[in-house]
Amino acid sequence: MINKISALEKNSDNEIFKQQPEYVKVTGLTPNQRKVYETLLGLGRSAGAYELLEILHKKGINAAATVYRALNDLVHKGLVQRIVSTRKFIAHKSKIKKDNESVLLICQHCGEVSSLEDQNIIEMFDKNLKENGYHVRQYNLELMISCDECVAKNSAIDHRIQL
Ligand SMILES: [Zn+2]
Repeated sequence: MINKISALEKNSDNEIFKQQPEYVKVTGLTPNQRKVYETLLGLGRSAGAYELLEILHKKGINAAATVYRALNDLVHKGLVQRIVSTRKFIAHKSKIKKDNESVLLICQHCGEVSSLEDQNIIEMFDKNLKENGYHVRQYNLELMISCDECVAKNSAIDHRIQL
């Protein structure tokens, strides 16, 4: 099953901020953590720390270290996930399990992130690795993809990747 992690509802634009958004229910965040979390969630896609810093200048955050610290704390809280292959971050609408074993699907054009939750994939890895005497310490399964919308916008994308 594929879940879009933080894509905003279509046509919602910034309406989501005017209503009582779900993330307001997230408690126990410092003001800086909340600013970083809400900004990242509001983007509806993955973003790097420096991109976040540029946006957060307006909200009074001026140091990259502050953004990194907040992102780290949010990762520990399970609200933000680090994308290892792109060095970006994606916000979750609610906390995820610490040992999240989903496969991330990252659109390499627009940065949208989905997760693929299929226990068979994890079991396949476990089985094959255990048979060889290996044990998985940490899953960072990430696939670079072209999302539906990017393919629709540019029919050349799909073709180029197949080459
Ligand atoms: Zn895309």
